[in-house]
Amino acid sequence: MQEILNRILEDCRRYTLEGEVASYIPELGKGNREAIGIYAATDEGDFFAGDWDEPFTIQSIAKPIFLMLAVRDNGIDVVKQHVGVEATGKPFNAIDYAEPLLLREHINPMVNIGAIAVCGLVKAADNRERFARLLDFTRRITGNPDLEVDQEVYDSEKKTGNKNRALGYLLKNSGMIYGSVEDLLDVYFAMCSLKVNCRDLARIGLLLAAHGTDRETGEQIIPREEAVFINAVLMTSGMYDGSGEFATTVGIPAKSGVGGGIMADCPGRMGIGIFSPALDKKGNSVAGIKMLERLSREMQLSIF
Ligand code: GLN
Repeated sequence: MQEILNRILEDCRRYTLEGEVASYIPELGKGNREAIGIYAATDEGDFFAGDWDEPFTIQSIAKPIFLMLAVRDNGIDVVKQHVGVEATGKPFNAIDYAEPLLLREHINPMVNIGAIAVCGLVKAADNRERFARLLDFTRRITGNPDLEVDQEVYDSEKKTGNKNRALGYLLKNSGMIYGSVEDLLDVYFAMCSLKVNCRDLARIGLLLAAHGTDRETGEQIIPREEAVFINAVLMTSGMYDGSGEFATTVGIPAKSGVGGGIMADCPGRMGIGIFSPALDKKGNSVAGIKMLERLSREMQLSIF
């Protein structure tokens, strides 16, 4: 396994020259486009190569975390009364939703509008408590008690995230956000700005691969049926409007972020964390997808 990771990483290094580092959040533009790392967490142990321990912000990989905790708090059925599970085929930050009545089944939790709505479903007395619960939960599922917000990236997105603000107000206008939009967006921005590395992502992947059971303690952190639900949503929508293509070439549940991370899991086998910040036009890591394609082919990971 170690040999496979080393070889795949070296073979895919050239793809870091393709694509662009995200710069619509100005602070992300400072990312090192040459960085490339991979980490696989399995029942037999962990394997890693390259810049697996370089920190980057989690960005959209916070979306499945919102969904996990919202489902824990409310159950799958209640969450599905608020958001749908059909792939949108639209970019992650799409705003062209039917007005005046936003159709709930069109709001997918793996794109920004749906993720902001689902973030608001996490139970809390206020948004400060909501963030504290989300951070605590993320530390638990990564097994990393030191996770913190990258203050520069948070400030940068808060300053420039007007499209997300617009999505928030669109949701509010349709009665899908209770309370302050700005405060809820602060939670969303702060969660997107969590500093992680490939191991943190692989640990989340391993939890989902093990259908919610913690490898170290054997504890059932999320019930099996909820893990199955999350995996299904990741499979159909985790790579934005590249999800169909990814299903055919890689074939495992995964979620990407514009920080260059990809969290993937192969049910029953392993969790995978990837980092390489140069992105394709859809916002997915170019070298990251290439590494997953190679790994899937060599180890026959596709669930199909
Ligand atoms: N924080 C980013 C945003 O909302 C996350 C997007 C992403 O990773 N695709 O724009």
